Amino acid sequence: MSVLSLRTKLIALVTLILVAGFVATNVLNYEVSKGALRTTILENELPLSSNNVYSAIQADLLRPIFISSMMANDTFVHEWVLDGEIAPIRMKRYLSQIRTTYNTTTAYFISGKTQRYYHYEGAGQILSESNPDDSWFFAARDMKEPYVVNVDFNYQIDGNITIFINYRVTDENGDFIGVTGVGLGLKSVSDLVKTYQEEFRRNVYFVDDAGLIQVHAEADVVGSRNIHDIDGLDAIAADVLSHDRGSYSYITQDERILLTTRFIPELKWHLFIELPESEALKMMKRGFIRNLLIGPMVILITILLIAYTINIFQRRLEDMAITDKLTGLYNREHFDLSLTQAIKRYKRDGRPFSLLMLDIDHFKPINDELGHLAGDDVIRRTADIIRAQARESDLICRWGGEEFIILASDCTATDAQRLSDAIREALRSARFFPTMPDRTVTGSVGVCEVRPGDDEVVMIGRADQAMYAAKEKGRDRTVIA
Ligand code: GH3
Ligand code: MG
Ligand code: MG
Repeated sequence: MSVLSLRTKLIALVTLILVAGFVATNVLNYEVSKGALRTTILENELPLSSNNVYSAIQADLLRPIFISSMMANDTFVHEWVLDGEIAPIRMKRYLSQIRTTYNTTTAYFISGKTQRYYHYEGAGQILSESNPDDSWFFAARDMKEPYVVNVDFNYQIDGNITIFINYRVTDENGDFIGVTGVGLGLKSVSDLVKTYQEEFRRNVYFVDDAGLIQVHAEADVVGSRNIHDIDGLDAIAADVLSHDRGSYSYITQDERILLTTRFIPELKWHLFIELPESEALKMMKRGFIRNLLIGPMVILITILLIAYTINIFQRRLEDMAITDKLTGLYNREHFDLSLTQAIKRYKRDGRPFSLLMLDIDHFKPINDELGHLAGDDVIRRTADIIRAQARESDLICRWGGEEFIILASDCTATDAQRLSDAIREALRSARFFPTMPDRTVTGSVGVCEVRPGDDEVVMIGRADQAMYAAKEKGRDRTVIA
């Protein structure tokens, strides 16, 4: 009982330590990570995302710039313009072919001389310097650079960003003769932005130098919302727009927003990538909870292993506590317990049982002449002989030095005498000493059957007296009390 409760206490203690340790490490880890999270996001994650978006933009721009440059240098375009723009159908066919060949959304040419807009479907209107919608053409005409990138973001149609490359066309003298170009969707950029927004809960948008939002997932803010007017962002807007790169955090509507910005020279816009801190914490909480779920399983397995190990050792300890080391028989403590139980049982059911007390005759000379190890061997082999003669239900114990006691259940004194004689016979005929074939080992046995009113002391005393009587009568015999 006390061993059992000790085991329960030990397992409870180990469980407590494991659970406490596990919870403490996880909570501590969570708190530490939470502190480092903002830094990691601002210094690594968001800038990495912005690098990726920038690389996608550069990759997406290469193709339309190349196509427009090719158109601007095409001899057909030059000759057709210098020949006086006759047969516009030929220009239409050319633009239409460019469009289908390179799979662009549009292809166009605007003559510097007539200011007429030709596109892949035919000749269009004449552009006017007084119309603000046409200003992009006159800006391209007057610029130093060979081309300019214009961006159009049409979220309502397909959420894609379309860019227009306006390429200046010049004759062999370098004189301006028109503007040509294609429109192409920024496919990789759009896909990447969508992924960041949907999977990583990031808000990706573009802002021009004046702070006006140019590309945004929410179409209604495009061209109408300025970061100078956004709560929380207004305070850092000037700082953000004056730097090529930066990491910031601001609070809007009670929520901390982590922001990375980067200027994209090709578009002359600032790329904004934002992540609400609560979203980042949500992801971390998910990991934290996953850990919390795995932990109890590990703890359970550990506890089961500990309980199993304790059981094995406990059984081994229990065995050791009731066994005699030299012979493997039960020891005296166990015999005492068994005798008490046997007497109780006898009082209940009245079925007879007997005790046999055996003492090896003249054992001391064996020790003295052949040494203690030989004596030990005799004791051990005597135990084996008794074991071989006794029944499965008989309890055999080593009582003391060279003394054994057998508790034979369902056994009268007469039965016990028969068992005793068999043991003695086997003992006498066993050859203990190969070099001395004539030297035998005998034993004297006192037998007593239980009587009504017996207690342990009385019964053992009777068996003991009977054994001494056997000694006195000349040894190697059985005496019944
Ligand atoms: P008797 O016929 O009267 O029983 O003579 P005996 O020599 O057997 O009697 P005694 O009690 O004088 O001797 C018992 C000896 O057993 C004394 C002791 O040294 C020895 N002895 C006790 N325990 C052990 C043991 O574990 N190993 C060995 N080798 N000897 C033991
Ligand atoms: Mg003795
Ligand atoms: Mg003896």
